[in-house]
Amino acid sequence: MPAALVTGSSRGIGRAIAERFARDGYDVVVNYVSSAQKARAVAESIGEKTDSEAVAVRADVGDPEEAADLVDAAVEAFGGLAHVVNNAGVDQHVYTEALSPEDFDAVMDTNVNGAFNVTKAALPHLREAAETTPDEADDADPAPTPSVTNVSSILAHTGAPVECHYAASKAGILGLTKSHAGDFAPDVRVNAIAPGHVETDMTADRTEDEKEAEMAEIPVERFGQPRDIADAAAYLRDAGFVTGETLNVNGGELMR
Ligand code: NAP
Repeated sequence: MPAALVTGSSRGIGRAIAERFARDGYDVVVNYVSSAQKARAVAESIGEKTDSEAVAVRADVGDPEEAADLVDAAVEAFGGLAHVVNNAGVDQHVYTEALSPEDFDAVMDTNVNGAFNVTKAALPHLREAAETTPDEADDADPAPTPSVTNVSSILAHTGAPVECHYAASKAGILGLTKSHAGDFAPDVRVNAIAPGHVETDMTADRTEDEKEAEMAEIPVERFGQPRDIADAAAYLRDAGFVTGETLNVNGGELMR
């Protein structure tokens, strides 16, 4: 069974992606940085509810050594790695005047450096998986080629005055995605997802007034759910002719 690593999958969007990949037949590494119990519960539930296996592995993806250890743990658990989803992310609401360089760096470390660190460590294993992927042209039902999917944000396109470092990090993810898509082709596809407002812990602090104002901007008249992003991740995992692309999943809030 092929294996996938989903960073930041103890809760929220990452959890939904890990569960979706497991339902689709992938063994999954559930990564977390502080929520050990939640991550173990996700892994256990995957083991109980699907035919896939899951392990919970702690690593701060912003630390290159921990990211490398995370990839090693994935390969040790499942004998290889076919897909990576760089989902781990942090957010902070503060205007530039009050934003410290340390806080700026902390957001960059997790959101951009984390994706770079994990991808760099995973690349040899993804390339190895590519060698065993059947040639799509010769196979009516091809296994998907290995992939990296990076989770960006609608704010990469729009900017965000109260979280410039977050928006900059998510724009950085798009540059990383296109660079890596060209660099790793044809062996490994690299794409991004740019979600709009998704109901998770990250957005739980919005006031009712803020939510009402945001909802007015969303043509489909609902906020996103983690499963909406999991659907997009499953699509990009399987979309053998798609690389260097950003899939905007925002209910029409920003049409590009
Ligand atoms: P969330 O509920 O706050 O979950 C964040 C996840 O990332 C948790 O599993 C957390 O682990 C993990 N994490 C944080 N820092 C980490 C680190 N240094 N190393 C490893 N794991 C780390 O967030 P979410 O809403 O699901 O967001 C997931 C991704 O989608 C993020 O990249 C976010 O920027 C992006 N996004 C979210 C929205 C939205 O509206 N929610 C919109 C656009 C983009 P612990 O549980 O151990 O802390």
